[in-house]
Amino acid sequence: MTYDITIIGNGILGLSTALSLAFLDPSLKIGVVGPENKEGGASVAAGAMLNAFAEITSTSLKSYAGQEKFNLSIQASKRWDSWIKKINDFLPVPDQITYQKGTFLILNSKSGILDSENFYSILKALNEHNEPYEEVNPAEIPGLHPLEDCRPLRSLYLPNEGCIDSGKFMRALQDIATNHYKISFINKKAKSFNVRGNSVTSINIESGESISSKTFVLAMGSYSQKLIDTLPQISRNIPRLLSGMGCSLVVNQDNNNIVQHVIRTPNRSGACGLHAMPQGEGNLYIGATNNVYMNPKTHHKAGFTHFLLECALEQINQNLHKSDIKTYYTGNRPATIDTFPLIGETSINGLWLLTGTYRDGFHQSPFLGDSMARKILGLPHELNNIFKPERSLIKTFTKEESIEEAIRHYMCGAYERSMKLPKAGWDEVLRDLIHNRVNYVYDRLETNFGLSPDMMMMFEFSDDFEESLDYFKDYFKGNHLRKNLSIL
Ligand SMILES: Cc1cc2nc3c(=O)[nH]c(=O)nc-3n(C[C@H](O)[C@H](O)[C@H](O)COP(=O)(O)OP(=O)(O)OC[C@H]3O[C@@H](n4cnc5c(N)ncnc54)[C@H](O)[C@@H]3O)c2cc1C
Repeated sequence: MTYDITIIGNGILGLSTALSLAFLDPSLKIGVVGPENKEGGASVAAGAMLNAFAEITSTSLKSYAGQEKFNLSIQASKRWDSWIKKINDFLPVPDQITYQKGTFLILNSKSGILDSENFYSILKALNEHNEPYEEVNPAEIPGLHPLEDCRPLRSLYLPNEGCIDSGKFMRALQDIATNHYKISFINKKAKSFNVRGNSVTSINIESGESISSKTFVLAMGSYSQKLIDTLPQISRNIPRLLSGMGCSLVVNQDNNNIVQHVIRTPNRSGACGLHAMPQGEGNLYIGATNNVYMNPKTHHKAGFTHFLLECALEQINQNLHKSDIKTYYTGNRPATIDTFPLIGETSINGLWLLTGTYRDGFHQSPFLGDSMARKILGLPHELNNIFKPERSLIKTFTKEESIEEAIRHYMCGAYERSMKLPKAGWDEVLRDLIHNRVNYVYDRLETNFGLSPDMMMMFEFSDDFEESLDYFKDYFKGNHLRKNLSIL
């Protein structure tokens, strides 16, 4: 099998890049490698919200890198209308994609103080960027019927941010690619690269065959680390990819109270916030949990499902307890240890990376797919180099800030889980206990690299707390270079 360009990975970023390449040069013969069922992929588990402002947190814009990541999101927001129009031009009317605009951002007290800080940071950014929004009465949000003690006291309506049916959209991209361009889908898993000199010449796939190309784009989401590990000459310089495992569900809507637009909280407790959105045929998508692991997971966890349903029933609509569960998803967000993406060419000729988009890769896909395609073809593009794959870790927290931020996220999670503390100073006692626990992690890691709270919480949820600490102690010392990174 020989292609001009081979995309390794069939999630939203792989599909968007393949199609963008074909739009720019229809003569290209392109191969997309990946299992048809997209097992463990993040894109299928996403709703997906197309949010830029509603994703802002109290810390996300404090660093230059954070601002650049936000810029990617803003660029993507500008692309969605024309991208969907372009896709719909290929589709018969009944199959066309709807961009359901409008997001209700709610501030309820079923969480910690962090929710308020994130909510006000979003409000500040909306004002500074003259982005349209209106303050709305939470009692008038269609589809919202929370328990009284979970009711939001403030909410904003963002008319320019919304959602799309992720599954339908990816099926449309794949159909257009197959029916209108020279794009072939290879229902197999990639195993390793063949490198001659300093160039990738082919990849080996699980059936024993190989695929040759001049250019390879590695876009396997959190699974990309497995292939990066086979290239020690570059793996040492690429921030470690982890798996932000997330569970989501689809239930049928409450017919008497239909959710019409995204309803979401700000990002909270190391995750992307509780959100619900309409998904056609009377369905309601509910997302999402996030727990970072060393390697991808493919099974829905009982505890996370329980938590997600509890949150949805308490905070979105108590009548959803009558709904049928239509389906559930488990996906792995590709998250680097510094939480920033990996975009661009590597120092091995012909090998490009597009991953590490973590929470909002679906939203960023029209911009990233087109920009990567342009970069590969040597055309003008708007991507800068800050997130190039081989780079130092980007530091956005001091160790002290990281500890303080982690405590806030732990508290948030505990309050969302209905923690009730005795009066008189117990809040401080609990904070101190968490402080000690987080400090212990830093003592064991022997690093001053300020981890983001999600990464800090990874240790808590890891399958083996002490072993993962040992791994990252070595990682921060650089000793991991002598080890096989995928062993844990
Ligand atoms: C529950 C959840 C909710 C989310 N919600 C949102 C949201 O609302 N908005 C948003 O913008 N983002 C959201 N995200 C994040 C977003 O989904 C990701 O950032 C984005 O989808 C990443 O896309 P990708 O193509 O890089 O990776 P993936 O979608 O993970 O795709 C990688 C593909 O590679 C395949 N693969 C695995 N192994 C191999 C192999 N050996 N060879 C070839 N292929 C392989 C996988 O099967 C998969 O199909 C969410 C993620 C999750 C998990």
